[in-house]
Formats: sequence, structure tokens, C-alpha cells
Amino acid sequence: MSECLFCKIVAKEIPAEIVHETGRTLAFRDINPQAPTHVLVVPKQHHADAAALAKADDGLADDVLKTAHDVAVHEGVAEEGYRIVFNTGPGAGQTVFHVHAHVLGGRSLTWPPG
Ligand code: IMP
Repeated sequence: MSECLFCKIVAKEIPAEIVHETGRTLAFRDINPQAPTHVLVVPKQHHADAAALAKADDGLADDVLKTAHDVAVHEGVAEEGYRIVFNTGPGAGQTVFHVHAHVLGGRSLTWPPG
């Protein structure tokens, strides 16, 4: 996926502020943060969205979720509460089609989301 922005970040061809990395996942700060902690967690393997990730059926979705929780712990927001969001599809606001979990915390998060 040579034209995929997040594949390029995974390949370290585009700079990002990486906060956590495992064999199969990468976590980096969102360039336009919506909360004091706003980190994106991606699988290194390209899947377009959460539906494709779920269908991968190889434990990769579990790895993304575990990395998201580890990020929340490392960022110090796990105890106060944090949010993991997968915008899935254009109608839900997805703009980058390499699946990513937003990890948001460090402020009061309202519900329902906009
Ligand atoms: P989406 O709208 O759920 O697809 O989220 C895409 C996210 O990627 C947005 O929150 C953007 O701010 C973020 N983003 C776009 N380009 C970059 C980048 O180069 N580095 C880090 N985050 C980015």
C-alpha cells in the first residue's frame, strides 16, 4: 500500500511521534489532538477499516486493543477513564483508510459523541 499515509508512518518514511511499538502494532500521537492524550494505534499490516481488521481472524484486532490499553496506562489516563474509538467508514468520520484506534483521555469526555 505505497500510497497509504499510515503505511508510510509504519515504514518510518514519514515522521511521527511514536509512543509505543510492538511486533505487529504502532502507536503515535495524532497530528491534530482532540484531547490531552490522543494517540492512534495501527496494525502494521494494512487493513482499511475495523471491519476488515475483524475479518483478518489472526488475533491482530486483539493486539491493537491490547496496545491501545497499554498506551492508556503509559499515558497515565487508564485509571481516570479513556475512550477507544474506531471511526469506520466515511459516514462515521473515517478519513484515513488504514484502520486505527483513537485513544483519547486526559479530559472529561462527553456522550453521545458528535
Ligand atoms: P479518522 O478521521 O478517524 O480516519 O482519523 C484520522 C486521524 O489521523 C485524524 O485524527 C488526523 O488528525 C490524524 N492524522 C492525519 N494525518 C496524520 C499524520 O501524519 N500523523 C498523525 N496523525 C495524523
